[in-house]
Amino acid sequence: MKVPLLDLKQQYASIKDECLAVTEKIYESQHFIMGPYVEKLEEEIAGYCGTRYAVGVSSGTDALLLSLMAAGIGHGDRVITSPYTFFATAGSIARAGAVPVFVDIEPETFNMCPERLKGFVGSMDKKERRSVKAIMPVHLYGQCAEMDAINAVARENDWIVIEDAAQAIGAEYKGQRAGSIGDFGCFSFFPSKNLGGFGDGGIVTTNSEVYYEMLHILRVHGAHPKYYHRYIGGNFRLDAIQAAIVSIKLARLDKWTAARQKNAARYRKMFADADLSGILRCPEERQDRHIYNQFVISVENRRDQLRDFLQAAGVGCEIYYPVPLHLQDCFAELGYGYGQMPVSETAAAQTLAIPVYPELNVDQQEHVVAQIRSFYK
Ligand SMILES: *Cc1c(COP(=O)(O)O)cnc(C)c1O
Repeated sequence: MKVPLLDLKQQYASIKDECLAVTEKIYESQHFIMGPYVEKLEEEIAGYCGTRYAVGVSSGTDALLLSLMAAGIGHGDRVITSPYTFFATAGSIARAGAVPVFVDIEPETFNMCPERLKGFVGSMDKKERRSVKAIMPVHLYGQCAEMDAINAVARENDWIVIEDAAQAIGAEYKGQRAGSIGDFGCFSFFPSKNLGGFGDGGIVTTNSEVYYEMLHILRVHGAHPKYYHRYIGGNFRLDAIQAAIVSIKLARLDKWTAARQKNAARYRKMFADADLSGILRCPEERQDRHIYNQFVISVENRRDQLRDFLQAAGVGCEIYYPVPLHLQDCFAELGYGYGQMPVSETAAAQTLAIPVYPELNVDQQEHVVAQIRSFYK
């Protein structure tokens, strides 16, 4: 039996007619960049996330970079973030000209640890605090970070908060949707996210009119009006085809999220029934609405061999992420070393994402669990 990590072909089959109809309209119009489909999606996403504004952009990475630029963060500034995330989080900080500063995660959720954040900020002197401009928490795998503590630290120091919500559209923290809790929310429509397009795309949410205007201006090279540049922005535009496809999918997102949550709950039960609790740990579901972009287990022993074994048995799985960002070659200049972010380092050595996509069925889940059990037998 084959169990892929994600089966987008099955999802496509369920929306194919609508997708073909809308793309044909766009081909006929020959209006590909921005326009009414992008504006419609921006309204829908703002509504879905509970924010006043949303600005469609070219990718999740660009959503992060554009937010930093709109907040005026650049050379000489520092931004606190998590070392255990996709590269783009810290990469965008560095590309904005700022310096990423890492705070380790909690082992149960893989999100930034509020106690470590408080301890770290408490140990900074005044000058260091002044050089920090923002905190960029990541809602990893689809579960919100501890936003009360993060927002409190940010407010005390006059820092802004940029949520990397690329994996967390629709996730909730105390009744608030991801992307509506900080100053900016950054989302990705990369095909493997819960709400993916047919190519690259992303969106930024905000409640601030000032930031909204800056996002708008910087998205088109800082032009305002056209051909008059007070700022240097970039080409951060979203195209009509991506916006139209994402709109079609957004109408089904809650149904797909519910299916992911059901699959996650079923794994927990299956792993408990299979008596695997001593060997593997399931992720802790701490916040109200975990949307399970990934279901990530941790195993103390032989993680890489388990991955190879599962892949050979036709079970899709992946290590997210094998090298924490403080140990990446490109950040060697920052001066971090092994041992400084122990929870992230352990996670990088022990975690494995297994299939949790909406169309996954019980037989497939049983197969996944049986293969893991047979590996450890
Ligand atoms: C996917 C992802 C991004 C980047 O999004 P792209 O659309 O691929 O540029 C950023 N941060 C996190 C946590 C992600 O998972």
